[in-house]
Amino acid sequence: MHYKAFLFFIFFTSSELKSQIVVDPGEMVAVKISTCPDIKNKEIFFYTFNNIEYAIIPSPFSKNSRVIKSYCIPIKINKKDFGESRITILDVSKVNLSEEDSQRAYKESQLIKESLNSYSTDIKPSLKFISPVDGIISSRYGKQRYINDQPRSPHLALDIAAAEGTEIIAPAPGKVILVGDFFYSGNYLILDHGLGLLSSYSHMSKIHVQAGDYLKQSDIIGEVGSTGRVTGPHLHWSVYLEKKRINPESLIAENFFEKLFN
Ligand SMILES: [Zn+2]
Repeated sequence: MHYKAFLFFIFFTSSELKSQIVVDPGEMVAVKISTCPDIKNKEIFFYTFNNIEYAIIPSPFSKNSRVIKSYCIPIKINKKDFGESRITILDVSKVNLSEEDSQRAYKESQLIKESLNSYSTDIKPSLKFISPVDGIISSRYGKQRYINDQPRSPHLALDIAAAEGTEIIAPAPGKVILVGDFFYSGNYLILDHGLGLLSSYSHMSKIHVQAGDYLKQSDIIGEVGSTGRVTGPHLHWSVYLEKKRINPESLIAENFFEKLFN
């Protein structure tokens, strides 16, 4: 390569690297406010780390590579193969729903959606999450789901299997905003961690909190169970940021802060 062409190549590739953020689907992304002042006007999650202020935004799940241009800096989402998961639900009435169950499931999904759209400013969100339950990961985020060989939506949550009755704790401080017994999710609750960061807990055998409770990290919220549509006792744990489901496993990874604020 000609010397000047080589210099141009170096300049081009390095400036290209800086002009976009590259990330896997389902991760949190930290955008420096100084590089993106307009972001300040948005109703999103701001976080200060080492005296630098960041906007914390989600990279949504995506099967293919794509670029998000809703912020001043483009965010390129990598194509990632999350694999697949095939499960068998023996109770076919929970797979091919009756008219009555289908209406119930629809009403519940609307109620859940409404709660998940919450944006509250009375809680300052923490990013120091811990695992909500001591168990074995039985299904990871992003897997293409097949239920009784029928393709379904990807699994955008983390399943942690543990014995029935194992305690489930709040992985971070939050407010309980919805508690109920739902068709798919069984005994279910949603925690609001503030500024558009929320999490939900499904299939519990028991719930130990009520809507409106403010919880500290590690407060007991319930027990592992197999209520709703399940194959065995486990916690189905979802985390939402700006209404997008993100990968809960990343939040509890040891290198989470290094990766987010690299
Ligand atoms: Zn699950």
